[in-house]
Amino acid sequence: MKVLREIDQVNTLISEWKKNGYTIGFVPTMGYLHEGHIRLIEEAKKENDKVILSIFVNPLQFGEGEDLDTYPRDEDRDRNAAEENGVDLVFLPTPGTMYPQPLSVLMTVTSRTNVLCGKSRPGHFDGVVTVLTKLFNITRPDNVYFGMKDAQQVAVVDALIKDYNIPVHLIPVPTVREQDGLAKSSRNVRLSDEERKEAPAIQESLQYGRKLVKEGQKSKELIIEATEKFLEQKTRGKIDYIELLSYPELESIENIDRPVILAAAVFYDHVRLIDNVVFNHDGHVIYG
Ligand code: AMP
Repeated sequence: MKVLREIDQVNTLISEWKKNGYTIGFVPTMGYLHEGHIRLIEEAKKENDKVILSIFVNPLQFGEGEDLDTYPRDEDRDRNAAEENGVDLVFLPTPGTMYPQPLSVLMTVTSRTNVLCGKSRPGHFDGVVTVLTKLFNITRPDNVYFGMKDAQQVAVVDALIKDYNIPVHLIPVPTVREQDGLAKSSRNVRLSDEERKEAPAIQESLQYGRKLVKEGQKSKELIIEATEKFLEQKTRGKIDYIELLSYPELESIENIDRPVILAAAVFYDHVRLIDNVVFNHDGHVIYG
């Protein structure tokens, strides 16, 4: 496995791979790898000759007061996990490598963004599409793998790829969960024991909301209200949002008559957790 930090070195290696006709799968991450990331690597391994993993905690996608400085990091452990799982190249740039000078051309996401995390994290998705555009140009992948845990990110990247005719195929991967249903996340290590016990209620509440649809409930308002009540009873975390929108357009709807996402974000003492379920008009899970 190669570990490279410089863009020129990556360019040279990718050119070699392309010359040999290898297909390339790319898994962008912020590191502190867990089984969710590993699942993306496994999918990439199945479908490509070479797999690139990037580990970069992108300052551009963190807002003021967010956890950029305290984001968990463990390069040695990540390198071992990447090697064990058959990654061919780990790209480990520094902020100075990715942003050697202030950008002269800025990217702004204009749709699919003023809802869910985009609403409570202004500028977040601008930072995401900026770093991904750079990473796509550096790694030149055929396929790129994203987790549905960050379903809004998948929707925004889908728009980025289509809007700018980026020649890469986006592959969404279902959320990997702990046994009790909590979505795996690098940030889970920051939950207290008590919070950790309560946090699976986020997914339970979303599944509860989905089941109401399965039983025939069509009103967005009633589903959100019931989901919120359910969650409030099961956790002392502070609800940031519970939203129900069309998916992947992320548009407001009154009645459930197409594929939708029911999503929540909850603040605990030192961490904000997100989760979602994507389902059809009849409540059948598409991504859970
Ligand atoms: P991050 O390192 O948090 O930026 O995540 C990197 C990639 O891993 C993103 O595409 C995430 O959606 C994906 N990911 C994170 N957690 C999970 C999970 N529990 N299941 C599946 N994919 C995940």
